[in-house]
Amino acid sequence: HAKENGRNTYCFFEPAMNTRAVLRQSTEASLRLALARQEFVLHYQPKIDLASGTVVGVEALVRWQHPQRGLLAPAEFVPIAEECGLILPLGRWVLRQACWQAQDWHLAGWPPMTMAVNASPLEFGASDFVEHLRSTLAETGLAPGRLEIELTEGVLMRDASVSGGVLQAVAELGVKLAIDDFGTGYSSLSYLSQFPIHTLKIDQSFVSQIGASAADATIVSAVIGMGKSLRKRVIAEGVETAAQCAFLRHHDCDEGQGFLFGRPMTADAIALLLRAGPRPCELL
Ligand code: C2E
Ligand code: MG
Ligand code: MG
Ligand code: MG
Repeated sequence: HAKENGRNTYCFFEPAMNTRAVLRQSTEASLRLALARQEFVLHYQPKIDLASGTVVGVEALVRWQHPQRGLLAPAEFVPIAEECGLILPLGRWVLRQACWQAQDWHLAGWPPMTMAVNASPLEFGASDFVEHLRSTLAETGLAPGRLEIELTEGVLMRDASVSGGVLQAVAELGVKLAIDDFGTGYSSLSYLSQFPIHTLKIDQSFVSQIGASAADATIVSAVIGMGKSLRKRVIAEGVETAAQCAFLRHHDCDEGQGFLFGRPMTADAIALLLRAGPRPCELL
């Protein structure tokens, strides 16, 4: 009943648990403070059309510019933010920031690009998720078709009837939906025909093994084939080598994302990349 007794009762736990609880509590408190102080930043990773080498979109990836610890990756704070619910205000900030940035690039005259934003199951499950999408698009002026929400299969597992309704509502707004880390979840494939999914993102664990494991290479080409037959757009994540890129092109994968094309970078660096023009895969 530590909770009922207030915040100072964690000392009754085991020492190891005590340490963990204290650490978690202090991280939670500093996350809250970080939101107020606006210490979060977005980096953007380019998505490349594999046929032409053009940047056709970016994925927004959140970082925490920590005053003492430096730039922190999502793995260090997103799970904690999910546990304590702070992912909701953080996710709303990410969406707004990403939409403003996309609209900025649009107004600067760059060719159309899609802005992809990750949403965790908790965010997607929030009752005001669709309303928040709608108001953010209205506020920023971004065309709905320029926004894509990346979901993991876990979202679809929660409650198919509820998530189905939300997916439908998002699609009706004109916002695209992508399944992130495709092939690593536990959901059935039936949702691909049931729900308005626009894009499949093949998980990097398969992509990274293209040259090393014949089985993984087969999975990649099979997912591309299935995605195309279902009229989905297919993107490979975690593309690191020219050989992987060549394989993906050979199998008609639409897009690639990975260190080969560019790491997640600042908005200014993306503008420089756009200025440099297309870099065909075979030249990388
Ligand atoms: P994700 O959505 O699957 O994003 C791809 C991750 O793979 C990113 O890590 C990216 O930096 C990394 N990556 C990209 N290309 C390569 C490559 O060629 N090789 C390797 N080894 N890695 C590559 P990051 O930025 O650390 O993000 C990790 C995860 O954190 C994301 O996985 C996503 O699930 C989550 N995340 C990031 N930003 C947000 C956010 O704003 N909201 C939510 N809810 N989750 C986020
Ligand atoms: Mg993602
Ligand atoms: Mg992914
Ligand atoms: Mg991944």
